Amino acid sequence: MTELLSPQPAPIGELLDLSGRTALVTGGAMGIGLGIVHRLHEAGANIVIADIAEAAADKAAQELSDTTRVRTVAADVSKAEDAETMVRTAVDAFGALDIMVNNAGIYRGSAFLETSLDLAQRTLDVNLLGVMLCSQAAARQMIVQGRGGRIVNVNSVEGVNPSVLGLAHYGASKHAVAGLIKTMALELAPHGISVNNVCPGGVRTPGLAPLLDEDAIVELEKRIPKGRIAVPDDIARVVLFLSSDLASYMTGTQVVVDGGQTLRGCAV
Ligand code: NAD
Repeated sequence: MTELLSPQPAPIGELLDLSGRTALVTGGAMGIGLGIVHRLHEAGANIVIADIAEAAADKAAQELSDTTRVRTVAADVSKAEDAETMVRTAVDAFGALDIMVNNAGIYRGSAFLETSLDLAQRTLDVNLLGVMLCSQAAARQMIVQGRGGRIVNVNSVEGVNPSVLGLAHYGASKHAVAGLIKTMALELAPHGISVNNVCPGGVRTPGLAPLLDEDAIVELEKRIPKGRIAVPDDIARVVLFLSSDLASYMTGTQVVVDGGQTLRGCAV
């Protein structure tokens, strides 16, 4: 009878427990990625922080409570060989990879008519092809292991609808990831691998600072029904949920985490 209520009868604590699992977080040295690192580590997972900013990744690792469960790797997600290296780092250190969090992303503002090919190309390379390459490397490893896995991508509300002007190239990259996961989810489901996107609205991070000053944040907060811009942990909690057994029946979805911001409609 309990099976009818739950395919996996287990106390809530067990469903959230990631002990013995290994998570790789790209862009985990700061911002949203760092918040995710902290929550997954707290839930018991072994952590690999893969980041282009090597010193910041090492510093982030040292600040975790159990450094025996953490490794760092210097990597650029847009390079196929780096994607392989980060997965190998996880397997060499912890014997497996169970959770791949594609968080690394770039978002330099530029009006559509002024956007250079170089900026658009780099944005697509990191935000779209980075997700593809890292997911391919991770999924191949998960399939060899034969015990399923989770891929969670930090996408954006810009992958749903534009919320600010001057990010057409970025929005295109995030819309592309929204499309990418649909077929990924279908092709990987037979292997027990789930693929989901989290779509934050504005989040206070080092990356956002050059784009929005404090005055602009105050203005933005007037448009957010929840009354404040997010902090990384608002997003990390949802990534933890999607990485855990609580979300075992979800795949191919985009979960918007924006304090209700997108309810206000399109870009202003
Ligand atoms: P951030 O700039 O504060 O941090 C990004 C991290 O990714 C840094 O540690 C950086 O070194 C690393 N990184 C950048 N390029 C990389 C690469 N090619 N390879 C490996 N690592 C790389 O950014 P953030 O605000 O924390 O954003 C993280 C993710 O969240 C991005 O995908 C971004 O698009 C998305 N997002 C952010 C916001 C926001 O308001 N901050 C909103 C929606 C979505």
